[in-house]
This record gives sequence, C-alpha cells and structure tokens, in this order.
Amino acid sequence: MINFEYARAGSLADAVRLMADNPKAKFIAGGTNLVDLMKMDVEQPARLIDISRLPLDKVEETSGGGLRIGALVRNVDIAYHPVVERRYPMLSSALLSGASQQLRNMASAGGNLLQRTRCPYFYDIAMACNKRHPGSGCSAIEGLNRMNAILGTSDACIAVHPSDMCVALAVLEAKVHVTGPRGDRTIAFADFHRLPGDMPQHDTTLEADELVTAIELPARGFATNYTYLKIRDRLSYAFALVSVAAGLELDGGTIREARFALGGVAHKPWRNAQAEAALRGQSANEAAFAQAADLVLRDAKGFGHNDFKISLARRTMVRALSQAARGTPQVQSNKKIA
Ligand SMILES: Cc1cc2nc3c(=O)[nH]c(=O)nc-3n(C[C@H](O)[C@H](O)[C@H](O)COP(=O)(O)OP(=O)(O)OC[C@H]3O[C@@H](n4cnc5c(N)ncnc54)[C@H](O)[C@@H]3O)c2cc1C
Ligand code: SF4
Repeated sequence: MINFEYARAGSLADAVRLMADNPKAKFIAGGTNLVDLMKMDVEQPARLIDISRLPLDKVEETSGGGLRIGALVRNVDIAYHPVVERRYPMLSSALLSGASQQLRNMASAGGNLLQRTRCPYFYDIAMACNKRHPGSGCSAIEGLNRMNAILGTSDACIAVHPSDMCVALAVLEAKVHVTGPRGDRTIAFADFHRLPGDMPQHDTTLEADELVTAIELPARGFATNYTYLKIRDRLSYAFALVSVAAGLELDGGTIREARFALGGVAHKPWRNAQAEAALRGQSANEAAFAQAADLVLRDAKGFGHNDFKISLARRTMVRALSQAARGTPQVQSNKKIA
C-alpha cells in the first residue's frame, strides 16, 4: 500500500494552491483512469486533489455562437446535450462510441482529454517503457504492438492517444481553457496533445501544475455532412484500432471544405492539412477520398503486428468521408439510458 493524501478543492484558487504546494500531487475528476493507474502502481501521486465538486459542470453558449463545455461535464451529459446533438453531432457520436455507459456517466471532459495511453507495456511496471520511466526503453517497438501507432512515432515511443472525443474535437478545432499559478491561458486543440519525440513522458502541452477548466467549440459544427467511424475488435467497450472523424461542407457534389482526423494511429488525433486542402474543389467521390487517404498515409510505418492498420486506415478514411458526403452519419444510439 502506497500512502497518499486526499484533499478536496473548494474553489479553483484552492485547487491551484493545493497543486502548487505539492508537485507530486494529481487532480482527480471521475477517477476512471487515474484510480486504475494507481492500483497498478503506474501513477503514485503523493496527494490526490479532488476537483469533482468545482463549478465546472456547465455547458454554455458563447457570444461568438460556439459552446463552452466545463471540464467537469460528464461524457454522457455532453453526448446527450441538446445543443451538442443538434449542432455538433460528430462529437455526440464520438463520445457514445467510447467506453461503456457506466464509464461515460463518471468520465469528465477534462479527464477524457488527459487519459493516458492504453499501450499494455505502459500498464505493466515489470516492462521497460519510456513513457512511464524515461530512458528505460520501449517494449512495444519489438513487442506486441497491434494497438500501437503508425504515424508520428519516434524511436522512444509508438503509443497512441486512446480518446474518441478528442478525434472529433480536433476536427471541430476546439480550444482548451486552462488555469494555473501563472494565470489563465487558452491552447488550440491542435497544440494540446504532443507527439512523443524524445519526451514521451509528456502527453500534452499542459503544465503539471495547470488545471483544465473548459473546452470551447467554435460555431461551425459540420452538422449536416459528418461522421465518426470507429473500427474496433468488438462493437462496444473497445478502444479504436482506427477511427475517423470527418466533416464536409458541400456545394452540390463539390467539396467546399473538408476536415478529418484519425484516432488510434498516433500519439494525438491525426490531421493532415495537405490532404484536407487537396479535397477542396473536388467532387465528393471515393476516388478523391482515396487520394486524400494516400496523402495522409504516405509516411505511415507499421511495427509488425500493427502493419494492418495502414490499409485499415485507408479504407476507414474512404468510408467515413463517403458516409459524410452522403449525409449518412454513424449514430450510436439516440436513447439516453438512465
Ligand atoms: C474499461 C475502459 C474502457 C474505456 N474505453 C474508452 C474508449 O473506448 N474511448 C475513450 O475515449 N475512452 C475510453 N475510456 C477512457 C475514459 O474515457 C477515461 O477514463 C475518462 O474519460 C477519464 O475521465 P475521468 O474524469 O474519469 O478522469 P480521471 O481518471 O479522474 O483523470 C484522468 C487524468 O486526467 C487528469 N485530470 C482530470 N481532470 C483534469 C482537469 N480538469 N485538469 C487537469 N487534469 C485533469 C487527472 O489528474 C488524471 O491524470 C475507457 C476507460 C475504461 C476504464
Ligand atoms: S510505446 Fe510508449 S507507452 Fe508503449 S512501451 Fe513504448 S514507450 Fe511505453
């Protein structure tokens, strides 16, 4: 048993102060990832700062026509929020494809952003893992790497970010609002998660003493031509092998704007500006989508067990973009289960 302190933050300022007091502290929200990591000795915080009662549980429309989602809004409450369902259905769909109903009832928006990789060696403290123990090596590169990355990898780490929600947020070009001892700041979603490089221990650009307060969605939600397509080993309660969030703006059959991001293939939701730009002005058909997929996967590299992800990603992109073009999105469920 490793002892740790428990402290409940009474206000945002209190949470920031409790963290500044003890650099080995961790915030806890729903606890669905952090508690597992503590049980497996992967995380050993000296102090748990419970932020679950802070007033960060609101979804509010912004003056610019967007939506501000508090960091403590539960995944289920985002997915079934009427404005999200109507204006950002790609986000609803992504959230409802993740985890299970019970987990979505507990998991918070901020915790979803900051959940750790599911690389099995990260969870096994007997194995070398640069993310868990920098400099120890990466067991996945020569090991069982079926779930690992094919894009943006480094010699130090080939882990993927496991979130579904984040893939949709990448396409929506959300912003992440944070606070900390040096004040408030806003991070563009594309800059929030990092590639592993030679510092795989850092998943994001959030400083260790900073707290996520909200996620802001811009006005544009791609509510007509969108999809979130998740390919996995079974149809529920499984992380993505490959997923694609896609949003199109069409002028008849011609693409005015295309945005898409891949999950399950990299250390962060993967977008490719060149492939998106190449689709602008093209007819919305499979040939154009296949060309865009080829651009995205030009530099993809498998590590043995995960080689199949390269062709799977190509097919998933073509199917997701075709579904978005037809306006036949993948909807997981329309019914809220109590
Ligand atoms: C069996 C299982 C299956 C799952 N399947 C999926 C899936 O298919 N798709 C998917 O996307 N997810 C899946 N998840 C992950 C789940 O979505 C995350 O565990 C959840 O979103 C984490 O939210 P939480 O509030 O419980 O975070 P916590 O466990 O409380 O925290 C996670 C991390 O975030 C930090 N943190 C939390 N809130 C803040 C904040 N506001 N500011 C700063 N730091 C913060 C904590 O310190 C911790 O490091 C699965 C989880 C489990 C256990
Ligand atoms: S891929 Fe990353 S998380 Fe997995 S063992 Fe290697 S360093 Fe660790």
